[in-house]
Amino acid sequence: MKMQQVSDHCFAVLNEKNRVCDANSGLINRGGGVVIDTQSDLPHARQMIEMFGKVWPAMPKRVVNTHEDGDHVWGNQLFEGAEIIAHKSVPERMKLEAAPEETQQLINGVKDPAKRKFLEEHHPGAAAAGKQLAEDYDLGGVELVPPTTLFEERYELDLDGTEAHLIYVGPCHQVGDTIIHVPKERVVFAGDVLFRQCTPMGWTGSFQQWFQCLDLIDQLNPEVIVPGHGPICGLEGVREMKAYLQYVIEESKGCFADGLTSLDAAKRMEFGPYGDWRAPARLYMNVERAYREFRNDPADAPWDKLATFDAIYTVAKAKGIEAEF
Ligand SMILES: [Zn+2]
Repeated sequence: MKMQQVSDHCFAVLNEKNRVCDANSGLINRGGGVVIDTQSDLPHARQMIEMFGKVWPAMPKRVVNTHEDGDHVWGNQLFEGAEIIAHKSVPERMKLEAAPEETQQLINGVKDPAKRKFLEEHHPGAAAAGKQLAEDYDLGGVELVPPTTLFEERYELDLDGTEAHLIYVGPCHQVGDTIIHVPKERVVFAGDVLFRQCTPMGWTGSFQQWFQCLDLIDQLNPEVIVPGHGPICGLEGVREMKAYLQYVIEESKGCFADGLTSLDAAKRMEFGPYGDWRAPARLYMNVERAYREFRNDPADAPWDKLATFDAIYTVAKAKGIEAEF
């Protein structure tokens, strides 16, 4: 984990391994202090608070959750008394998507020899994902703390003369997707609408909405973007992400027309120029999302998480690479 200053008053804490749950956090050290996203467990959240403490000595008065996924909200409880701001969908969606028990059960499962054996036999992908998570994370003590201030389309903060605009852009990666634009400093905190040098994982929404959101970031013309996952970037990160999604949807169209399942399609498709992004076999999820659109499935159709990990694992094995999530 490292802290990086990205403009006069904007900072990022980056999880450099860049695998699942390695989410970034942001800080604006003006107007009481604003933290953006709170990490995946309490030890990581404490480390983030300590790092930001070097540039903002008090506990920040505000927290923004860019969306409902656990890796962006599981440290909320450490910001006692803070105003926590998110899109209006987030409180309900958090209960569905970020119940810490489910992930903790997987992490504990792989630590128990009998349970691990069962998982390895029946869900080899979930077992591998659990082992990877157990290397870095322990969700012990995490309690879901929902946002206290909800907004619909847009919410503006005046931080002692520096404005921060919260703009709702979902659903493209999750239902609650929000970006934070600091115009004066030409910074965008993008949350998970932008993955950088790692393969995106989209859960709900549509490709169309995702493209629109990336176009919006382009129009805002920031100098620096802090993605939800991966190193900071400029607009080249947005354009690469868009090109990736376009590549996936085009390739998926052909496979769908050939009658392949989404899993077989992901196995057949080349990683192309994206093979050196972290966890390239997460391609499966993006193909499956494209298939859901081709089939006119509801945008928020649920995912079986164990089966999803298994499918990513199967794709990695088919490609002869280490399974990484
Ligand atoms: Zn995330």
